[in-house]
Amino acid sequence: MPTKNFSEGEMVMGRWPGSHLYYEVQVTGYDKSTQLYAVKYKDGTELDLKESDVKPLNYFKTKKSHSRSSSRQRSRSRSRSPARTQTSKRSTSRGRETKKRVQKEDVQKEDLPAVKSVHQVQENSTNNKATYMSEYKEEKEENNTKNIYRVVEHKIRREIVTDRLGLPSNLRAKKEERKFVELETKDDRLNVKKQAIRTQEWEFGGRVGAFFMLFLLPASVILLLSMCAEDDTSILSFPPPFPAFHTLWNSTALGIFVLWFLFQALLYLLPIGKVVEGVPLANGKTLKYRINAFYAFLLCAAALGAALYNEVNLSYIYDNLLQLAISAMVFSLLLSAYLYVRSWRVPADELAPGGNSGSFVYDFFIGRELNPRIRNFDLKYFCELRPGLMGWVVINLVLLFAEMKVQGHDMPSLAMILVNSFQLLYVLDALWNEAAVLTTMDIVHDGFGFMLTFGDLVWVPFTYSLQAFYLVNHPNELSWPVALAIIALNTVGYIIFRGANSQKNAFRRNPCDPKLAHLKTIPTATGKSLIVSGWWGFVRHPNYLGDLIMALAWSLPCGFNHILPYFYVIYFTCLLVHREARDARQCRKKYGVAWNKYCQQVRYRIFPYIY
Ligand code: NDP
Repeated sequence: MPTKNFSEGEMVMGRWPGSHLYYEVQVTGYDKSTQLYAVKYKDGTELDLKESDVKPLNYFKTKKSHSRSSSRQRSRSRSRSPARTQTSKRSTSRGRETKKRVQKEDVQKEDLPAVKSVHQVQENSTNNKATYMSEYKEEKEENNTKNIYRVVEHKIRREIVTDRLGLPSNLRAKKEERKFVELETKDDRLNVKKQAIRTQEWEFGGRVGAFFMLFLLPASVILLLSMCAEDDTSILSFPPPFPAFHTLWNSTALGIFVLWFLFQALLYLLPIGKVVEGVPLANGKTLKYRINAFYAFLLCAAALGAALYNEVNLSYIYDNLLQLAISAMVFSLLLSAYLYVRSWRVPADELAPGGNSGSFVYDFFIGRELNPRIRNFDLKYFCELRPGLMGWVVINLVLLFAEMKVQGHDMPSLAMILVNSFQLLYVLDALWNEAAVLTTMDIVHDGFGFMLTFGDLVWVPFTYSLQAFYLVNHPNELSWPVALAIIALNTVGYIIFRGANSQKNAFRRNPCDPKLAHLKTIPTATGKSLIVSGWWGFVRHPNYLGDLIMALAWSLPCGFNHILPYFYVIYFTCLLVHREARDARQCRKKYGVAWNKYCQQVRYRIFPYIY
């Protein structure tokens, strides 16, 4: 039985993967099954380390004091510090001289600890590089280029970690600089596989679950749309007849979907709206995002208005909803394939922590790359809110007209108006608060793979519009008092949802905001705090609670004749319960004891006094 030697919150020395460097880190958790310690570096990087890569804080100092030699040089040598200057056996006298000079400079430094600070390591690494370059120059005269490349590459490989921390380049001989850059680039590529952190925790049932989801999700969309199109949606007629295969595919529908996607991409590229920074990534980088989704919506609305004014036949969308959904599926599958292939060319630190398991099916489903971009075009951020969410609004509107036509009314029903208005409010809210998506799990944590491409491009527009689709063929008379009660329910849900999301976003963007001074917080080892009063003191996920209340309000206008309009509430409850568990796991890993303290103070996850 493995024993756990370090406890949560303890400061220890953690090895940086792929190097011999040890840094001071804090233990934030321990996974018994994988026997890995979750640790947090001072720069905010979080990694899982093996027991052998974690040492007590005084480990190196102890080693040094017990050293048989008092020479710092030797002590460093055994500790395999990167500052140790190494020469190959073939090293020439000039190389040795340079080495001695570097060693002398090292020794002259007062009280150099066995394990150095990042800054010191950088300095020494720079010296080493100067040494390596001079060795390289001389060896080039004596040996063939191939061998030298191997020697230099080997040495740079050892320094790659400090290199990533940003070395000053002025010590590099100009002539060799280009070669160095080439070697580093090559080395980076070589290290992509080596340094990428393997996913330890599998979600969604692992590779078997992911495999089934690849089929289950498209099948569910086809089934739901087929059921909604049926006049008789009673349980007795379940399952509905599978549509004839040749009717599923329609190349015009694919063309329309692609045009819609490109139109949205064009709007995304418009240089209107401010540019904001996302949350800092684990690799220390921060990406910039243009906020113009709301403007894009206004332009879409204008285009749609112009189309209606010119009597463009929008009923094509209603008549070919299934074919459009299948086109979106094909598109999302192709996009996922592209994303998977390109993920093998990106540096390791740009991969999502959860999408690098090594299993093709699982990684394809979850998504390997965290923020895939073509130049400044962020594919995940773009898909998250635009083609799918705005597509949902367009489909709802088309269904509203379809209801009037099918039911022979001059006006849409009250139920249809409520469903359309509630969902329009939800979409407008998401677009207006576009920047808030930058702190969500989808953007911060999840890779971009089939799960999100399918979710954004197929699931949202074609299943979230199910209530409106249901009402086209299954009218439900609503009295005004009932309608008012449903409006009140949606308003309550919206207030909780918006209040909670805004409170957290404002706090994450500026914890010192005077408007938030009344909030009680718990500090965490990461420097971030957790809110324990206000909405986030009510339940652990008040935003999910508000979202679920709204989901119920969207279904109620359809009456109680069938479960189909309630599909969204049922599915969404499952999704958010599962999502809450995923988030809690990640937060426990991130915040350790502070998260446990938060959970003790805020007992319920989503539903007060229930769950
Ligand atoms: P959240 O916006 O709830 O973000 C969770 C993160 O918030 C945590 O990882 C943590 O991140 C931070 N956090 C948690 N507790 C606290 C606290 N007490 N104080 C401060 N920060 C805290 O997650 P989601 O991305 O899942 O949801 C965003 C919104 O999107 C929700 O309203 C949800 O309902 C909605 N949604 C809608 C879907 C749909 O299909 N309609 C699908 C999924 C979500 P950190 O500490 O790192 O900041």
